[in-house]
Amino acid sequence: MHLLKRVLVSGGAGFLGSHLCEKFLQDGYDVLCVDNFYTGSKRNIAHLINEPYFEICRHDITFPLYIEADEIYNLACPASPIHYQNDPVQTTKVNVHGSINMLGLAKRLNAKILQASTSEVYGDPSVHPQPESYRGNVNCIGPRSCYDEGKRCAETLFFDYHRQHKTKIKIARIFNTYGPRMHPNDGRVISNFIMQALRGKPISVYGDGSQTRSFCYVSDLVNALVRLMNTPDDVTGPINLGNPQEFTILELATKVIELINSKSEIVFKPLPADDPKQRKPDITLARQVLGWEPKVSLEKGLIKTITFFEELLSDLGSGKTLI
Ligand code: NAD
Ligand code: UDP
Ligand code: UDP
Repeated sequence: MHLLKRVLVSGGAGFLGSHLCEKFLQDGYDVLCVDNFYTGSKRNIAHLINEPYFEICRHDITFPLYIEADEIYNLACPASPIHYQNDPVQTTKVNVHGSINMLGLAKRLNAKILQASTSEVYGDPSVHPQPESYRGNVNCIGPRSCYDEGKRCAETLFFDYHRQHKTKIKIARIFNTYGPRMHPNDGRVISNFIMQALRGKPISVYGDGSQTRSFCYVSDLVNALVRLMNTPDDVTGPINLGNPQEFTILELATKVIELINSKSEIVFKPLPADDPKQRKPDITLARQVLGWEPKVSLEKGLIKTITFFEELLSDLGSGKTLI
């Protein structure tokens, strides 16, 4: 018998998952981190392992898992194009088989389950900004499809479990989020630019840099996920979570160079296939339903993220392993 509320975080050793685990421990929960360390790392959770209510389970969620929990946050899935395209079949599997297993677990336990979905379900949108009602413009046979279609299918599964089995579901459509513990080699724009600027290497802007993104700091996103989980059972989402402030990639490059006071120059490289031209969340629903909006400015968030990458580089320099 356990007395504390037990929260299961699949993908708990990843970037977002590790921040969630940390928050739940601070809030006095029993935390079960389930991860196969595909893109996550022990370093992300090293500061938590001596906490008495923290438990790590090395497990691949594409296989069944029989365990007890009151709430499930399903985050397990490589998130950056470099990582999810490395083994695209596994990416579809984690979204489809993995979601079925986590939903089967939630169904057996009558536990609430939250899905970390993504703005990628909108594909390269023809509507801007994207409300939840927009059905998307996704290429089903491109290099991003394993992720985009995998996440779309996961949403379908969540809603079918909800309709068929009355499973209590919550779906968050997460837009670009950044912060400490991002993977240094994930090829994402913020980690790339900061690492390049800290090393004095050229800043790689893809295309002409006029494409836009909106960046949400991790603490804002974590607060939103917890708020969503705590909504009444009839609130299922999907609900957009992100920061609506929009920047061009060129503006971001300039800001990173300025904050680091770096000597790096900007170089232009080819735009990857299916790279969305604009992306910005419409968070009207999140404001209404969760009473939430992001608080951390890009500048403040970047400063904290830069400090993290500086420490990482200094650990690398001193020969410490990053595993
Ligand atoms: P991440 O790669 O740091 O975390 C994913 C975690 O899942 C890693 O720890 C990885 O080892 C684990 N994992 C992968 N496959 C697994 C499997 N089969 N079994 C168990 N664990 C597995 O990525 P992140 O940025 O923290 O993303 C977390 C979730 O949020 C993902 O589902 C991602 O799609 C979603 N998301 C993230 C963003 C973002 O901007 N970071 C945006 C939209 C959606
Ligand atoms: N499952 C799991 N843990 C559980 C319950 C189920 O991993 O505690 C898995 C199980 O392997 C199954 C999947 O979840 O393949 C879906 O379960 P569900 O009960 O919905 O379907 P069924 O077992 O009837 O196929
Ligand atoms: N990008 C870039 N240089 C980089 C990495 C990314 O110009 O070194 C661009 C990329 O082409 C895209 C944007 O930055 O237009 C955001 O890319 P990211 O992979 O971070 O996220 P996503 O495309 O999933 O929003």
